[in-house]
Formats: sequence, structure tokens, C-alpha cells
Amino acid sequence: MEENSSSLVEAIERPDETTAEVSVEITKGVRSLRDLIERVTGKGLVAPEVQEDAGLAEVIPFPFLAIVNQYEMKMALILALINPAVGGVLLIGPRGTGKTTAVRGLLDLLPLVPRSLCYYGCLPEDIETMGIDAVCPDCARKYAEGKPLAVMDRARLVELPLNARLEDVIGGIDERAAIHHRLRLQRGILSQADRNVLYVDEVNLLDDEIINALLDAAAQGNYTVRRGPISATYRSRFILVGSMNPEEGYLRPQIQDRFGLRVIVKGLEDDNERLEAYRRVKAYLANPRLTAAQFRAETEIAREELQLARELLPKVELPDRVAKVGLRWIKELGIESLRAEITLFEAARAFAAADSRQTVEISDLKQVAPMALRLRRSSFMSDYLDHQEKEQAQIRAIIEAT
Ligand SMILES: [Zn+2]
Repeated sequence: MEENSSSLVEAIERPDETTAEVSVEITKGVRSLRDLIERVTGKGLVAPEVQEDAGLAEVIPFPFLAIVNQYEMKMALILALINPAVGGVLLIGPRGTGKTTAVRGLLDLLPLVPRSLCYYGCLPEDIETMGIDAVCPDCARKYAEGKPLAVMDRARLVELPLNARLEDVIGGIDERAAIHHRLRLQRGILSQADRNVLYVDEVNLLDDEIINALLDAAAQGNYTVRRGPISATYRSRFILVGSMNPEEGYLRPQIQDRFGLRVIVKGLEDDNERLEAYRRVKAYLANPRLTAAQFRAETEIAREELQLARELLPKVELPDRVAKVGLRWIKELGIESLRAEITLFEAARAFAAADSRQTVEISDLKQVAPMALRLRRSSFMSDYLDHQEKEQAQIRAIIEAT
């Protein structure tokens, strides 16, 4: 990419140019996170000559920034990390399009979050927003004594296995304690995901009771488990990322509606991009550590920028004149769900923050509208891909006419 084409819009309009070789100079002159994501896409890799010892069990994820193109998928995931209020991300596409790779690649970009020192996940901000009764008695005492309730810690990526039972997901009786005649609850995956990213691959294949528990916990930010005489309420403020292959099963529209951003992930169409992606995967499989090292500098910047965007987010304002444009689009598209505007506006705020700005512009809405508004109307999953293409064209036409 040329030195002077620093605008994201420009980069999107000329995506083929992003596959051109980019030198290590890339980290110089990066204006913002979105700038970085766009520029690093297409960075050339040198195939390693030395094969590493594959006996090591250490897992090094394929670098997020090494994923060729798939701009919308990358941006949706980044926006969700910047602003959890977008309501999660659903990645829809066939196998082998890099959905799981992208999500696991987030590992290196995860922000710092306050990590509760308490079993129930109490945080000082709970007291600040809801008063002292919002935390457990232990934490209330610690707070009064001026002791910390939390430490800053890197967010984690928690994966929900497809074969998880409801007990595993929400928690249940601790069977090891039960052997010693003690009745105790064991924390489930949902509470372990508090403040973290929860990834559910093949979300369309989960049992209904699990998906309902998951979505309720995500929406409320907490959930209560009752088992016989004991009950406990756990916090569950996680960023939910789901992926699904529509060829393998439907996702009920009411469940689909509960995901904020939806990305249709397709295979790369451009031959050069496919070749580049092939080379990178090959290089990564031969030597994951070297591949990670080649993207380390950019990854480090991206992580810092992401943290800054998160810190800027509370200051980002959505002017009424911009909000009204978004509401008009939603009305014209005939979308009923209130989640449409919540996601649209929160994603636009995150996008502005990713661009280091404090005011949302109509151009921000335009960037995020397709992922926030698509698949909000479809009632039959069987024809939704077909439907989506028409809808995409319509969204584009409406936002371009503004
Ligand atoms: Zn507590």
C-alpha cells in the first residue's frame, strides 16, 4: 500500500492493493487501530527454512493480523473487544474460512480488564454504580477497609465445548465436595467467562437449554444457579462470539437476533489473496513461533491501540443528527428488533474510538451498518443467504444515498 493512503475508506475501496508487499516500516506512521488492521493485511511473509521441534505442546495462535483480507470479520471482533455493548459477534460461513483462527488470534490482542479477587466476581465498579449491596459481604468489608477488590489482568479467551452439559455451563453441585458430605456449588463456564471473551464454535448445534442459559447470562450480565437448598448468583459479563456453518444446521431467528454483529464469512475470491493466505498458513504450520514473531511488533501496537480505544470509548458521543440517520435506515429496512439500533450505535461508537475520535460521524454508521443490520428480518433460515445478498445491496444503496 502507498504511504499516503492512510484512510480506511480508501483501503476498503481498493482491497486488492492491500495484498501488495508491505515492509517492516509498517509500524511507522500508523494513525490508529483501524489503520493498522487495514495496513497489515497483506504483509508478505518469508517462508521459514528451519523446522521447529513440533514436540512442544505450547500453543501459539495464528496471528490475527496475519489473516488475509476478511476485513469485516476482523473489524467486528475488534469492535466487540473495544465495546462489549455491541452485544457479541456471530460469524456465519462454511468451514475453512478462518472463523476459529480469527477468534483464537484475538488471544494476543485481549485488553486489560479488572479481575475480581472474589469467588463471586465482585468489582469496585459494581459498588460505584449500584451501591454497597451489589457486592458480597466479604467484598463490602474489604471495600470499607480500602482493600482492593480486583487487579488488572489480561482478558482470557474461554471456549465453550460443543459437548458441554448444562451443569458444566452454569455450574452445579461440586461432586468432589459432596463425597465429603459438603454441599457446595462449582462455578460453571459462564462465570469463568466473566470479563473475558466466550467463544462458541458451531453455536447452531448447541442444545436449546444451553443456548438459552448462555444468551440470558450474556444479556443480564449475571445468573443464578439453584441446586436444592443452595443457590448462588454469578457475574457473567462476557463478550460472546459465536460461529456457525449454515450447512450444518439452523439457528432460530430469535437466537440469531440476540447476537449484535453478524458477519458473513466467505472464502477469499481473489487468487492472489488465496495464494498469500496459503503461504502464510504453510509458514505458520512449519514454524508458528517465527510467524508470531514476524507480526509481534504490529500485534503489540494493535493491543495498545485497542486498550486506548477502550479507554476513549466512554467519551465518544453520538450526536442526535447522526442517530436519526441510523434510525431512518432501520425504519426503511423494516427492522423491528430494538437490538438493531443498540448494536448499530454502539458499534459506531467503537469504530470512532478505533479511529481515535470522540464524535460519531455518519461515515462510522455506514461502516458498521451492514454487520449490525443484516439478518435482522429473515424468518426462514433456509433462504437467509440468498436473502442476505439482496439485503446487503439494499443497505448499501440506502447508506450510499445519504
Ligand atoms: Zn465478593
